[in-house]
Amino acid sequence: MPLNAFNNMIVSEQSAQKYLLGFCWKNHQRFCPRCKQRKLYRLKNDKRRCSRCGYTFHDFSGRFINTGKLTAVQWLWLVKLFELEVATSKIVEQTGLSHNTVFKALATIRLAILAHSLDAQLIVDHGYSLGFGNKRTPLSATDPDKDPPPPVFGIFEHAGWVFADIVPGLDAESVVHFKRNFQLKTASLGNIVYTDRYQQYATLMTCGLYLRKHHPQKHLDRGLSVDSSKGFWPYSRERLKRYKGVSNERFPLYIKELEFRYNSRQQDMFAQLVEYLCAFVPNLG
Ligand SMILES: [Zn+2]
Repeated sequence: MPLNAFNNMIVSEQSAQKYLLGFCWKNHQRFCPRCKQRKLYRLKNDKRRCSRCGYTFHDFSGRFINTGKLTAVQWLWLVKLFELEVATSKIVEQTGLSHNTVFKALATIRLAILAHSLDAQLIVDHGYSLGFGNKRTPLSATDPDKDPPPPVFGIFEHAGWVFADIVPGLDAESVVHFKRNFQLKTASLGNIVYTDRYQQYATLMTCGLYLRKHHPQKHLDRGLSVDSSKGFWPYSRERLKRYKGVSNERFPLYIKELEFRYNSRQQDMFAQLVEYLCAFVPNLG
């Protein structure tokens, strides 16, 4: 999305809304988000009520974008700045929005990316919640008191595409086990611990905060094959270094963001992000 096209889109709140609604309703055909009924009653304030189940909704109800009280123009600006990888503090400065509002909006964009990834269900099964409705929070472990070991993501690259998927059956404890018993090399970048090649994966990655707490050993091995690889790893290294404070809870969000950015590097990332943001929040339980 070149800047001149973006400029035309945000020229008014009306044009920005029109762009967003194009992603919400195919051919402007509205339906009830709960039961898919098409016969709806128009209410005040642009709301509609379903003739079958009585659900009252507006155009963004149940969608990722229904977070905070941002205008359509503000949302499009936030997506653009996210696309350009502008730092959160700079976005706050440039938009005049509060830090909290910007933080929540960016977390929502990342959540929408995660929800559209192939292993979204596996991530949720690992104890993470996508949240729902107004109470949606950034991805959070459902029982933080239990301090469960974070998941392990395996990086697999093929024909210019990367798959950064959760590896079923492994968690941060497995990385320690492989290191101790099979001399699997490990190194770290910020809070991320990563390994040498493992089976079909170029590297395994997990959040190091948990490891630091439970297994205070260093991850300083040299000569990991992934460090001399091309493609996804050099692309991610720079970015991972910036994610210094990444927590257990937010770690999958960043991995999925990197996977998405890398795979979208030749495409119109902006339109794809808006499409994700305008999608319904799936109920992955
Ligand atoms: Zn309905």
